[in-house]
Amino acid sequence: AAAAPRSAMVKETIRVYARVKPLGRRQQAGIYSVDGDEKTLSSLEIIVPRELADGFVNNKRESYKFKFQKIFDQEAKQDVVFDSIAKPVAECVLAGYNGTIFAYGQTGSGKTFTITGGAERYSDRGIIPRTLSYIFDQLQKDSSKVYTTHVSYLEIYNECGYDLLDPRHEASRLEDLPKVTIMEDPDQNIHLKNLSLQQATNEEEALNLLFLGDTNRMIAETPMNQASTRSHCIFTIHISSKEPGSATIRRSKLHLVDLAGSERVAKTGVGGHLLTEAKYINLSLHYLEQVIIALAEKNRSHIPYRNSMMTSVLRDSLGGNCMTTMIATLSIDKRNIDESISTCRFAQRVALIKNEAVLNEEIDPRMMIVQLQKEIQELKDELALVTGKQRTSELSQEELLQLDELIDKFLEDNDPDSTLDVGADMRKIKYCFIRVKQLMNRSKISDKKLLSQHTSEQKDSNKEAGEEELKKLKELLKQRDNEINILVNMLKKEKKKAQDAFFQLNAASAGSAVLEKSLSINLEESQSPSNCSSLKEAKDFSSSIHTLLFLPRQTGGKMSLGCLEAFEVFKQEHADNITIEDNKQLLKQRFAEAKCLGEKLNEVRNKINHLKGEITQRHIQRAALAVSSPSEELNMLDPVEEKLRTQIEEEKKSYKAMFNRLKGLKVEIEHLQHLMEKVNIKLQKDFEVWWSEEAINLQQEKPEMVSSPNTATVYPQFIKSSQHLSTNSSSETTRVSPNEDPAGKNNSITSSNPTLKTRTPASSSTSIPLTGDSQADADILAFIKARQNILQKKGKSCQ
Ligand code: ADP
Ligand code: MG
Repeated sequence: AAAAPRSAMVKETIRVYARVKPLGRRQQAGIYSVDGDEKTLSSLEIIVPRELADGFVNNKRESYKFKFQKIFDQEAKQDVVFDSIAKPVAECVLAGYNGTIFAYGQTGSGKTFTITGGAERYSDRGIIPRTLSYIFDQLQKDSSKVYTTHVSYLEIYNECGYDLLDPRHEASRLEDLPKVTIMEDPDQNIHLKNLSLQQATNEEEALNLLFLGDTNRMIAETPMNQASTRSHCIFTIHISSKEPGSATIRRSKLHLVDLAGSERVAKTGVGGHLLTEAKYINLSLHYLEQVIIALAEKNRSHIPYRNSMMTSVLRDSLGGNCMTTMIATLSIDKRNIDESISTCRFAQRVALIKNEAVLNEEIDPRMMIVQLQKEIQELKDELALVTGKQRTSELSQEELLQLDELIDKFLEDNDPDSTLDVGADMRKIKYCFIRVKQLMNRSKISDKKLLSQHTSEQKDSNKEAGEEELKKLKELLKQRDNEINILVNMLKKEKKKAQDAFFQLNAASAGSAVLEKSLSINLEESQSPSNCSSLKEAKDFSSSIHTLLFLPRQTGGKMSLGCLEAFEVFKQEHADNITIEDNKQLLKQRFAEAKCLGEKLNEVRNKINHLKGEITQRHIQRAALAVSSPSEELNMLDPVEEKLRTQIEEEKKSYKAMFNRLKGLKVEIEHLQHLMEKVNIKLQKDFEVWWSEEAINLQQEKPEMVSSPNTATVYPQFIKSSQHLSTNSSSETTRVSPNEDPAGKNNSITSSNPTLKTRTPASSSTSIPLTGDSQADADILAFIKARQNILQKKGKSCQ
């Protein structure tokens, strides 16, 4: 016996055996001889009796020789036939290859006897029961694999398939059996629809099924249909096997085929002589021969398997994925010589066919899943070992929050080089993508909202700058408020002093005392601001105001009263006092308005901050809700938040409007201040000129009064310095525009108040005309002292 091939693919010609049926009692034996030993192919020689050829065109050869794998002569017993023919095939099938054993021969030649067995003796059991016995024996012996066995039994009669294993009834007619049809899938695999696959877990069950099928086959046979001679019966053993834990399944089939009788319609010639040409009674055998011829030819691409159901079912067995064996059953009596020769000829052609049997392995998806799950767990364990972290499939809430923060930060970062680094964790990377997608989708919901949100973000940055600006403006306003208050108070006081001085005219001059008094009072009053720096500024400022306002009077010396009066008169005569007063009132009004606006701005800003806080609160609430009870709704836009955002937008609008108004006010206020400064400078300048002229006139009237030799140069210098100041005033005046960053805001009073600067000529060397009048001189000296003090202070604050 040939050993079962173990390689994945076995390329082999169909093995062809011959079995000669014992002669019946009344049969005349034909002349034949069997030659050969165990090791070589056997040879069957058939001799055609002379008398048959007599009297006819004697073109017949006397001897016909055929080669077979082995020839089983009349005495060959079933067990020997099984061992030689079926056992090797059964072994292949057990190894995972497909196998087919088919018996071919004329009716009565012993096909059924060989395949199924004789009905009388146990020893006459044929290949099917013996194979079943053998297979189950082997399966029991092999504990390395898990086997599953099924059997099916198909009868093909007149191109119709019938399931012989239908357990529901014992058919009385073939037509009562379930009809089996052929189905072909896209891969051209043949599937037999309605053919039941009965599981057989042991030999007994399998034999019972065989008995059932044979019974059905017999009962269905009637003299009318002659099923036994005209039908093909295919008993199939299906075996699947796999090693425990492996996902690989091996499936194999063993077809044991009892073909229809191969006898042909003999054409009888003239005189009743047999013609050599004959036709198969069974058409499907004709097609089988066509397939065999086609397969035997070289370079034949089309094999007509589809012409009959039988060739379709046996397609793999013929020229395909199968280890196939044929048994040619011969009835070597005189009458059947021709049929025997035909059978042998057919067998010779079949012997040329090469089959390619492959190991039928496939992957069990369920087992694959189990295997992959195991592999995943192992990889997880390995990962945990390497990273030192146990990795679950889900990210923790804490990790999710951290990722959200990272994503927000990343999205807000304008740095083009900024990256979102979440580490080598696919779960985190995937989450980031999902989160960004969510954010994208949220923006898509309303592009308008996105737009407004975008601009509101811009506004936010605007607002920040705006708030900064507002702070500066408010400080400036405060300072201006102080300045104005001081100015107004001083003006009031000066007015009163002027009046007082007027009344004191007769009671000798007390200008010096008045000056000192007013100075100290104003300094005291100016101490009211709580802020220390502003206090100092206020002092400086008030001092400078004194310098400005009392300069003429002080220089008036002896005529201090007259000087004062003169300045008042001069002012009334020269200055457009109405305009100044109007401007003052307007300035005051504007300051009040600005103050009010500043307060309102503050309110709006607080409101916006409050609304922002509410949104944040809302976010926290929803985030908490998403954790405790996640729902789709939470991924949607929050209507409450939307409302809050709308409110913020409105507030921002009014803020912007007010802010712009405040900016306008600031410009107006500064302009007014500038105007007033100009008027003051002009007034002062004019007065100084006038005063100088008056002083010169005085000196000319009283030359003895001038003690200093420098006196001559005094007046031009005075005037010069005044001119210098007035020319400087335009260039040194610092305008504080709302968009500028007024660094050193503490100096804003002095820097934005040119009057202060312009009132500070480098006058330490300036000679002052002394009047000779002790009182007037004292007044002048006091003035100089006060002015020098201011200058010193200014110098320090400017450093
Ligand atoms: P087929 O199925 O080819 O038509 P069968 O197997 O029915 O032929 O055989 C016809 C008869 O010959 C049966 O009664 C069977 O028992 C008998 N027979 C066939 N072959 C043998 C054999 N090798 N030994 C003994 N009896 C046989
Ligand atoms: Mg038969």
